[in-house]
Amino acid sequence: MGYNLFRTKEVTGVFKKKLTDFKNSLGEAVRQGKNIPFADNDINYVLKLQNERLKEKGVDLQTDIYARDESGKKFISGQNWKDAHYDSTVCFSWCGVKRIAKINGRRRYTDNRKSVIYETITDVVSGAHPDNDPCNCPNCGMASTVAGLQEGCSYCGTKFQMDDLFPKVSSYYFLDDAGMTTKEFWLGYLVFFFIALIGLYILCISLRPEVFLPQNLIRNKGALIGIILGLPAASFLGGYLLYVYFIFIRMIVKLILSAGKMGTAGSRRAFESRMKRVSPEFSFEYFTSKALSLIKTAVYSKNEQDLLFYTGEKLDPKMKDIIDLNYGGALGVKSFQDEGDQVKVVTKAYFDVLYAKENKVYYRNQVFSATFKRRTDLPVNLNFSMSRIMCPTCGSSFDATKNKNCPYCGNPYEITTDDWALVELRYK
Ligand SMILES: [Zn+2]
Ligand SMILES: [Zn+2]
Repeated sequence: MGYNLFRTKEVTGVFKKKLTDFKNSLGEAVRQGKNIPFADNDINYVLKLQNERLKEKGVDLQTDIYARDESGKKFISGQNWKDAHYDSTVCFSWCGVKRIAKINGRRRYTDNRKSVIYETITDVVSGAHPDNDPCNCPNCGMASTVAGLQEGCSYCGTKFQMDDLFPKVSSYYFLDDAGMTTKEFWLGYLVFFFIALIGLYILCISLRPEVFLPQNLIRNKGALIGIILGLPAASFLGGYLLYVYFIFIRMIVKLILSAGKMGTAGSRRAFESRMKRVSPEFSFEYFTSKALSLIKTAVYSKNEQDLLFYTGEKLDPKMKDIIDLNYGGALGVKSFQDEGDQVKVVTKAYFDVLYAKENKVYYRNQVFSATFKRRTDLPVNLNFSMSRIMCPTCGSSFDATKNKNCPYCGNPYEITTDDWALVELRYK
């Protein structure tokens, strides 16, 4: 993602509290379909759809996000983007993610991965007064405005302070962590120490079997003492060299794999600069979080063709067996085209997927081809949310995840006037 290590810093205060609370609430939100009050409505909507999918498949998915060491209690801030009203920062924290999937009380799948959780936190720019900006009630999800919620939600009556509404978590994903904690490093070293120990002893035997075979060693005290002292000392160094070599090779393999994932860096740069002409605040990081949210919503929905932002064909039925969908670390731009006042971008998205089918739960790495479309004559609205559309005809707010037409004036609403539409989603 190109983080500048010299500009990163640890997150503190209310930001840290909301990021940490989000991380701690996520497992139960997936399992029970609970609303996370300080998360964006679009996240809650996807979590609700995922929970419905789990129920429909009869799967009890337990997700435990835990700290692997002290660094798991911190959040570090990374990339940042802003417009006149909102300021978003990607923050990350090291963690472990343990998943257990049960069907009828029987364990069908379990894994435990070293991860990094990335959360985007969005705040109001100080001095900006977004009073009339649409905002959903964190309690009941009713479409309202920032000022309206401070007076009290018209549906459930809950009153909110600005601190309840902002900052809020506006997207999240997990990536596998290639790094190691100190404990993991020493455990790995211990394994390589024993490999070296056994390897060196076998080498000794093959060179001088008359001395080093166990039955011969017992008779030769000098050689026995020599090997008891010498072998561990040699393995201490030999194991270290092997271990460093292993880590190096693994890193090279990962680099080669991820280079293939990113698509051509040139097309990504060209796409980014094309979008910056529409909106100078556009960033690829922002686009990635948007794209992930749309793909997840389409995959988890019962019928994607009811969704306002989805204009493609019926999805591959296999996608409706997906019970957990995690970003696999890369959204590559394959190509993009300008078509009149619209831009169309073809991406390759990598995901780690859990499927549930016929009482089985299984894991796959999958690549999706996802194509997005948007108008190029209108700037990007960084606080845009599908669940609180402002009708361009009558100005009312409504939830576009449920309505394709404005429920007040009845006019059809065209998603590309405000945001990205997903025009195709298929397996690669
Ligand atoms: Zn409410
Ligand atoms: Zn309307």
